[in-house]
Amino acid sequence: MCSKGVALVTGAAQGIGRSIALRLADDGFDVVVNDLSSNRDNLKAVADEIQKRGRANSHYTADVSQEEQVKAMVEHVVEQHGSLDVMVANAGILGPTGPLVEVSTEQWDRVLAVNARGVFLCYKYAGMQMIKQGRGGRIIGASSLAGKKGYGTQTAYSASKFAVRGLTQAAALEFGLYNITVNAYAPGSINTPMLVSFDPSEGLDMAKELSPFKQVGVPEDIASLVSFLASKESQFITGQTISINGGAFFD
Ligand code: NAD
Repeated sequence: MCSKGVALVTGAAQGIGRSIALRLADDGFDVVVNDLSSNRDNLKAVADEIQKRGRANSHYTADVSQEEQVKAMVEHVVEQHGSLDVMVANAGILGPTGPLVEVSTEQWDRVLAVNARGVFLCYKYAGMQMIKQGRGGRIIGASSLAGKKGYGTQTAYSASKFAVRGLTQAAALEFGLYNITVNAYAPGSINTPMLVSFDPSEGLDMAKELSPFKQVGVPEDIASLVSFLASKESQFITGQTISINGGAFFD
């Protein structure tokens, strides 16, 4: 299959990002995967899986909260693969779990730096490149159910995921002129290392109760949505943060 274009997925060494990267490769995109250098081995394994699917690929370690690193990452994608057509700003971290009155300024700043600033930087440098290319593009970010409905005990995380929705709407208004769509996904509970780390003892059981299916989602559920958002067929959808939560919450 000839290439549908070049996609960059952040936080792709595991969980939802890994699944999105593999799905986009199956869809015919060449895929660059990013994660922290501390997760390099897993990241390299994802790049190898993309290779096996017959698609051009590379892996690039960078911290999405650092502007120079995001700028250099987008430059790497274009130098190695010729363009950037789909940006998936997936990387994110959980905040400290506990009452708001116990959240420190440092904890708040770190969560916002990765989950909100990191997505902003990805949108910014991907947008600059896509505008320069002059043939449109797809920008997709990670919000959350916690970005639709405030989540007690995860104050900083909730605030960061609401920020992604606002950013997505504003960016969609600006980038629409260039035929670049900007959307986000808002997952409910998805079975990944992040969900398990949230509450290793009861997390999955509690999360299952929220859905009428009485189960949590799998990363491939999110990858299916991203696959559609990245496709030509989604051209009239922009500025949306799409809930994908097994019926746990209705907009
Ligand atoms: P995960 O923790 O399993 O994977 C996240 C990946 O991001 C990790 O590989 C991690 O190393 C990487 N990462 C963290 N900080 C980074 C940084 N500064 N720069 C680059 N990479 C970084 O999480 P996941 O469950 O796969 O979640 C993916 C996204 O979906 C996140 O934004 C998360 O907030 C969001 N989300 C997840 C769930 C869920 O239930 N799993 C629900 C709602 C939203």
